[in-house]
Order: sequence, then C-alpha cells, then structure tokens
Amino acid sequence: MTLVCPRCSRSHEADERFCRECGMPLVREGAREVEAESAAHETARKIRPQFARGELVRVAGGRNQSEAELVQGILLNDGIPSVLRRTRGFDVPDFLAAGPRDVLVPESGYEEAARLLSEADLLTVEQSPNGLPGIGSPGRLALGVVLAFVLGGALVWVLYQLAS
Ligand SMILES: [Zn+2]
Repeated sequence: MTLVCPRCSRSHEADERFCRECGMPLVREGAREVEAESAAHETARKIRPQFARGELVRVAGGRNQSEAELVQGILLNDGIPSVLRRTRGFDVPDFLAAGPRDVLVPESGYEEAARLLSEADLLTVEQSPNGLPGIGSPGRLALGVVLAFVLGGALVWVLYQLAS
C-alpha cells in the first residue's frame, strides 16, 4: 500500500503518517475509489433501458445475500437491473445477515428475467419457511424428555421384576 500527500502528491511508505515536505496528513492512494467508480460505470453501461421501466416485482429469491447477488449478476449480464430486499417475515435480528433475499426487477424486465433464470435453473432457489434450520419446537423437546423418562422408568421396573 502506498500513501500519498493530498497537497503535493508525493508518495510515502505505509508506516508514515505525515508528508515530509509539507506536513499534511497522508491518505491512501485512490485505488479503491477508482475501482468502485469503474464498477458503477460498468453496471450503468450494461443496463438496457427497455428493462428498467415500471414497478419493481419479485422474480426470484436467494437463500442468502450471496446467492441473491449471483442471481443479480446473471440478470445484469443480460441488461436487467435488479434490487435485493430482505424477504418479508425474516426481518428479525437472527436473519439480518444470513436470511433469504428477494430479487426484484422492473416490470418491463420481468419476462426476460424469468426466462433467463429458468434457463439457468435459478428459479428453484425459492425459500420455504419449513426449510429453516432449528432444533424443533419446545413442545417436541418436552415430549422427548417425558418419553425418555417413561422408558427409563419402565426399564428399571422390568429389571427389578427379573431380579426378584
Ligand atoms: Zn506534501
């Protein structure tokens, strides 16, 4: 990493904090900003205006952010802009980072998006609430404990009968 002086553009080693010439606090060389800017330009260049009209409608879902971004990338390659949204009903803290996402596209791009995604077999990434990981309901857990207790008691009784 190279640091540069924002005033005189002199570059410095990463372990220095102030410019040796003019004393200005050093900043990182603008690689990151340039990269982000060109990525945004690239996105804007790819979007086809005929797919960018109308209300947003849900076209697919991803089980998490990265799956949804994969879908988004496929759509963008074909010129369809899209927006990711946290799936309704999962907006509780546990799911904020890892929860399912809806992929929304403008109405005018919906048909093309649905066609693309069915070709790529990505319309199957729908999320059902039953698919969530978990240890089961507390009721089931309690039932299991009671059953184990009863079976254990019966076993003790049988052994007692056999022994006497
Ligand atoms: Zn300087």
